[in-house]
Amino acid sequence: MKYDVVIVGAGLAGIIFAERFANLKDKKVLIIDKRNHIGGNLYDYYNYEGILIHKYGPHIFRTDKRDVWDYLGKFTDWHYYQHSVVANVKGFQVPFPINLDTYNILFNTNLSQEEFQSKLDGYKFTDDPKNAEEAVVNQVGHYLYETFFKAYTIKQWGTDPKELHADTVSRVPVRTDKESRYFYHKYQGLPLLGYTDMMMSMIDSKNISIMLNTDYKDIIDGVEFDELIYTGPLDYYFDYELGELDYRSLIFEERTFEQESFQSHSVVNYPNNYDYTRITEYKKLTGQKHHKTTVHFEYPMEHNEANEPYYPILNERNKILKNKYLEKARTLNNITFIGRLAEYRYYAMDEIVESALDSFNKKFNR
Ligand SMILES: Cc1cc2nc3c(=O)[nH]c(=O)nc-3n(C[C@H](O)[C@H](O)[C@H](O)COP(=O)(O)OP(=O)(O)OC[C@H]3O[C@@H](n4cnc5c(N)ncnc54)[C@H](O)[C@@H]3O)c2cc1C
Repeated sequence: MKYDVVIVGAGLAGIIFAERFANLKDKKVLIIDKRNHIGGNLYDYYNYEGILIHKYGPHIFRTDKRDVWDYLGKFTDWHYYQHSVVANVKGFQVPFPINLDTYNILFNTNLSQEEFQSKLDGYKFTDDPKNAEEAVVNQVGHYLYETFFKAYTIKQWGTDPKELHADTVSRVPVRTDKESRYFYHKYQGLPLLGYTDMMMSMIDSKNISIMLNTDYKDIIDGVEFDELIYTGPLDYYFDYELGELDYRSLIFEERTFEQESFQSHSVVNYPNNYDYTRITEYKKLTGQKHHKTTVHFEYPMEHNEANEPYYPILNERNKILKNKYLEKARTLNNITFIGRLAEYRYYAMDEIVESALDSFNKKFNR
């Protein structure tokens, strides 16, 4: 079978390319994904209780860019939602990121904004922190570092902050006012009927065919095409010939409770106690009404063959290896490497939209 474009991966990056090629250029597109669904890590679905959940962890869309918001807005209405998170520490539930209220609750004080700022200024001891621990202590002092960051980082990355590069926490989000929203972006929300529904609308075209449950390597030799858009893992494309890139993984334990509400906020962080880092209650993100509620307990863990690659581990080895693979990728013709796996980098959704639209316009829409 002949297609103009083959796209590996039905995540946000792949779907944007499919939509643009099909609708703007009238090209015949084949999307291949090894999973049994489209949507990549944004995939959401109604579980057995009829509650809409995010299979790969909570996703909140936010952007400052009007064009990014408007592009997705062609395919969905929005559930307007402002995210705020609390952390469960020392027997309190306090706002996170740390703000004036967090400090005053934990220290049983009544500091003003100026007094809190001068406390923070007093913690600074170096212009050149040597590792992540020093980088955080330099900004918030020992007590807040121990309370919010130390054990959390060990759970999240499996590594002591002393072993992590200072860059990983170059700017700890601390607010000296009482602002409790997690994000400041101008536009925030979730697709009203869910991410999967939005992405189905994006690829609703007679020009687009989809093949699920298929590793592209199993079929690609039998497919004719002019362009390949690759959003799968960078090292896998090259058969790991230079070595494997490392990832951190997550496991989500799903539990449904016979009650309308489970916790005060959609996300509650547990930096110190328990093996999980946070609990997400989906109804509080999506605004769905239901007499029961479903939550995810989120456990970070090592990446292996049985789980998913989530976060790139940006140590020196992986940075060098990634650059070597990207150099090889640049020598290939008629193939675009794009997305969190193919570029081995963390991308928020709005960054993916911007990068995919930009790359499409520069390469294929001149
Ligand atoms: C826990 C978590 C929470 C997040 N929350 C947010 C958030 O709140 N807000 C935000 O803006 N961003 C969030 N993100 C980031 C967001 O998930 C990414 O921006 C987005 O998923 C990137 O899309 P993508 O298309 O690059 O990758 P993916 O969604 O991973 O798509 C890649 C696709 O390629 C497929 N594939 C891989 N290998 C093959 C193969 N060999 N053959 C065929 N198909 C293959 C995969 O199955 C996958 O479907 C979060 C990320 C994580 C890990």
